[in-house]
Amino acid sequence: MTEFVFTPPTQPSLAIAGDTQRFPVRRVICVGRNYEAHAREMGKDPTREAPFFFFKPADAVVDASPELETTIPYPPLTQNFHHEIELVVAIGKGGANIPESQSLEHVWGYGVGIDLTRRDLQFVARDAGRPWDWGKGFDQAAPIAALHPVRAQGHLDSGRIWLAVNGRVKQDQDVKDLIWSVPEIIAIASQAMKLMPGDIIMTGTPAGVGPMVRGDVVTGGVAGLGEIKIKIV
Ligand code: MN
Repeated sequence: MTEFVFTPPTQPSLAIAGDTQRFPVRRVICVGRNYEAHAREMGKDPTREAPFFFFKPADAVVDASPELETTIPYPPLTQNFHHEIELVVAIGKGGANIPESQSLEHVWGYGVGIDLTRRDLQFVARDAGRPWDWGKGFDQAAPIAALHPVRAQGHLDSGRIWLAVNGRVKQDQDVKDLIWSVPEIIAIASQAMKLMPGDIIMTGTPAGVGPMVRGDVVTGGVAGLGEIKIKIV
């Protein structure tokens, strides 16, 4: 038996709708600029770009179903803390070089999450040609509501995706408008590394991202996957 110099960290995990079991999270893989209008609002041309990816730490995930009344501390080092509502794909079966035609077989379930972003730090890094990590990876940067297993819910390729701040709708689109679909994302990501059970993919955000301040209550959802709710404190 392996002896560790201190107790290993707790396995990060997410709640599952209608189940007491939890989904163990291995990595949080995020897709950049995957809706046209959002790419434009970030000052980029969406039509000429292959998908690109970045990571958040696995332990940035936080359960954020509405009944939990999850609070997220306003993070350090930023004065421009943004919401990005996203469809989340939970991988249940690993694989490399997954053909697009088979990629849905690797999906365990779906959920709704918010890619919390220190936009000022992200842009400083972007414009200097540096990694985005400080903009995207910080404590509690990935609130995600309870996951919905494919076995209960089936697959999902369309449906309203929305987010509101203090009840005022800021993001409102349809996941069918993803530039790169879920099967394409899985196929392309699996060419770069072997996807593993427990990997979570945040698939990109629609237009309408914007700042949050302390006291804001942020709600959102994807049709068929329930809602998410956080309060910034
Ligand atoms: Mn995002």
